[in-house]
Amino acid sequence: MEKKKFVYSFNEGSKDMKELLGGKGAGLAEMTKIGLPVPFGFTVTTQACSRYYQDGQKLADDLAGEIFEKLAELEEVTGKGFGSKENPLLVSVRSGAKISMPGMMDTILNLGLNDDTAEGLARLTENPRFAYDSYRRFIQMFGEVVMEIEKAKFDAIFDTKKEKEGCRFDVELTAGHLKTIIDDYKALVKKETGSCFPQNPGDQLMEAIKAVFRSWNNERAILYRQLNGIAEDMGTAVNVQAMVFGNMGETSGTGVAFTRNPANGQTALFGEFLVNAQGEDVVAGVRTPQPIGEMEKAFPEAYKEFLRISKLLENHYLDMQDIEFTIEKNRLFLLQTRNGKRTAAATVKIAVDMVKEGLIDKDTAVMRLEPAMIDQLLHPRFDDGDLGGAERIAKGLPASPGAATGRIYFTASDVVAAAENGIAAILVRLETSPEDLAGMAAAQGILTARGGMTSHAAVVARGMGKCCVSGCGELHIDEEGHRLNIGNTVLKEGDYLSLDGTAGEVLLGQLKTVPAELSGDFETIMGWADELRSLGVRANADNPRDAQQALDFGAEGIGLCRTEHMFFEEERIPAVRRMILADTEKERREALSFLLSYQKDDFKRLYQIMGERPVTIRLLDPPLHEFLPHTEDEIRQLSEQIYVPYEKLAKKVEELHEFNPMMGHRGCRLAVTYPEIAEMQAEAIIAAAIEVRREENLNLVPEIMIPLAGMKNELADVKATVERTAQSVMAREGEQIPYLIGTMIELPRAALTADEIAEEAEFFSFGTNDLTQLTFGFSRDDTGKMIKEYKEKGIFKEDPFQSIDEDGVGWLVETGTKKGRAVRPGIHLGICGEHGGDPKSIEFCDRIGLNYVSCSPFRVPAARLAAAQARIKRLLNGSEKGC
Ligand code: PEP
Ligand code: MG
Repeated sequence: MEKKKFVYSFNEGSKDMKELLGGKGAGLAEMTKIGLPVPFGFTVTTQACSRYYQDGQKLADDLAGEIFEKLAELEEVTGKGFGSKENPLLVSVRSGAKISMPGMMDTILNLGLNDDTAEGLARLTENPRFAYDSYRRFIQMFGEVVMEIEKAKFDAIFDTKKEKEGCRFDVELTAGHLKTIIDDYKALVKKETGSCFPQNPGDQLMEAIKAVFRSWNNERAILYRQLNGIAEDMGTAVNVQAMVFGNMGETSGTGVAFTRNPANGQTALFGEFLVNAQGEDVVAGVRTPQPIGEMEKAFPEAYKEFLRISKLLENHYLDMQDIEFTIEKNRLFLLQTRNGKRTAAATVKIAVDMVKEGLIDKDTAVMRLEPAMIDQLLHPRFDDGDLGGAERIAKGLPASPGAATGRIYFTASDVVAAAENGIAAILVRLETSPEDLAGMAAAQGILTARGGMTSHAAVVARGMGKCCVSGCGELHIDEEGHRLNIGNTVLKEGDYLSLDGTAGEVLLGQLKTVPAELSGDFETIMGWADELRSLGVRANADNPRDAQQALDFGAEGIGLCRTEHMFFEEERIPAVRRMILADTEKERREALSFLLSYQKDDFKRLYQIMGERPVTIRLLDPPLHEFLPHTEDEIRQLSEQIYVPYEKLAKKVEELHEFNPMMGHRGCRLAVTYPEIAEMQAEAIIAAAIEVRREENLNLVPEIMIPLAGMKNELADVKATVERTAQSVMAREGEQIPYLIGTMIELPRAALTADEIAEEAEFFSFGTNDLTQLTFGFSRDDTGKMIKEYKEKGIFKEDPFQSIDEDGVGWLVETGTKKGRAVRPGIHLGICGEHGGDPKSIEFCDRIGLNYVSCSPFRVPAARLAAAQARIKRLLNGSEKGC
């Protein structure tokens, strides 16, 4: 069997070997392959990193042997000797994982220097200052990375010397000064580690490689992987490369440049450089670099060459490149190229421009924009400058994206009052309930201590497109005292707070926000996405504003109108309460007839906005007690307001009390026990459709959706009520219109018996919020904190309320789909739980062949994009017929 290879020279690899060589290694190999000026070197692979860990954090002899073989090759290619006093070879040792993790792992430059080689370098270059500057940098980096000596201790020595010698800038230190710094650094190493600074370059190299492997598991790298969903077991490669020097005087320098502007996407080189410096000076911000354009003056020849190469690299990789370079004595060398990170706005512009330039096709352009990035384009965000200097005081769940800043208030009514006085307000609540709706609407943003990603606050805020951070466990709210504390920070009503709903962060004080800028390019790319996708995208909307917003964002219909949201409005709630408190059916019908005209108007507005697009209206879902007050004070207050004796009201509240309302008298069970509610709603739906049809000559086909049905018989019962009502309205109006009756599949039993249910239902919409809750037995409102812990422990990779649990809940959806279609082949199938807006879940929905996803209006563009990407991936995998 051929021996496994753990080390590759740069001329042995290519850009397609990222997994093995890491992004940087693959980039260096590719640049070498296409003949660009890359200092020679080799890459110790990611498999070597895994081996290092398997071997108990040791570099096995055979692995070390391979490294030394490649080192000998490097000596030959460069004509220099590792450890040679006459012509020393110095190398850089850099990390490089498959997925770029900028700044998270370690790098060591100038390795190979010791007391002798430093002297040799000084003689060879006739530049002692340069040689000692390189040596002091190396001792510091090696000391920090390998020996884990605090950076501050080196900095203290350096800064004290600078001060003592009256130097403002590092470059003012002379060779003599640097020599004493070296002595002090070495003394520090001895004091901290008990040993002398290693003088053998071979030992230095082995220790440096091990340290880079170890840095895969440093705290910031682990956190970065967690935040960016990068697998833990990938490991990093290590690149060992002959040094070139940007700190050889005024004819040398170093810099970083992007081939296009990463902030706004403009087609112009964007970057900076420093004369007489090494790479880390640019990154660390020790000196202020000059804009890249000025390089033309400092290094005219190298600049011309750089322009040529940057264009070449972009054309080669067909993407914007982030390039690191060094100029040694006017000669340009490339140290890295990778696809540059960029803002959402830049992503869109660059992708569209590259299609126009003929560099990439539309599929590629659509794949480049991550759905999560779209939020950045649709919501206001914080001014970058303000954000950089802001103090983050807590972290919660990124429940609804955007940026909000304002004064804090602890009740919905205080927020409303503040907003009426022109004050930007943030609503802070333990958790929100439907009664907070007005406050939520008036607030700039919402912060809650409890509640997960599908809690009331999160769902409603997303629906409103309003920034929300929920489930912020560090938040302690004293509602009565109108104050909160987070750690040692105490804030009282009226104090400023800022929320970053995209990151789930709470920031102190008032931060500037900048509004969303939607460019024509964004529309262009979304148009391409629409051409490519096969999955429909509807919106969850229950008022005209949301419906209009959904339409503006490209929704093709309403997939879920939660009618209970229409009942919570201030002027309607007394009628709802009268209906609940009614002693007789007659009284109940009277209260319902009051609501009927409101409901009819609501539906008319929705139909008018949506035109002939489908509108799915769900019959009342929540348990009735949600409409009644709970505390003694609230009951007393209401009894005075509506002239119902306290005792009667309190008794009704008690009667309707449920231990687990989520599994109680809700959904279609309400319509089974109070058919008159379903009758009123069906009448409003059909009558509104007839009127709009007459007034606007529109061919409407209302979709009436019955929630939470688990059995064919219970669905049949409610369906009969709806049909009877629809027939009688149409007879009364003298006009027949088509309509559909379908159901939500939200109970595991419904999914398992979907074939029976399909006999009664003309469409299904999978309610994956409830389906997740009831499949796992996790209450949707109470599990936020626990799910966070489950994620931290790795039990859950993702919150199943955010991204569909494909093995369990997903299997039920797929089973429901197959069973439904077996009985009713043309049945229209959608999903309207929160998962309908989650890209990964959308990919799943596309794969199992649903007809559409439905999500809150602000998630519609991301859903359109995710649907297109799902289809492109499916085509690439060849899992669509005809491929
Ligand atoms: C669901 O359960 O997925 C759903 C959409 O209904 P709701 O969130 O209103 O319970
Ligand atoms: Mg539901």
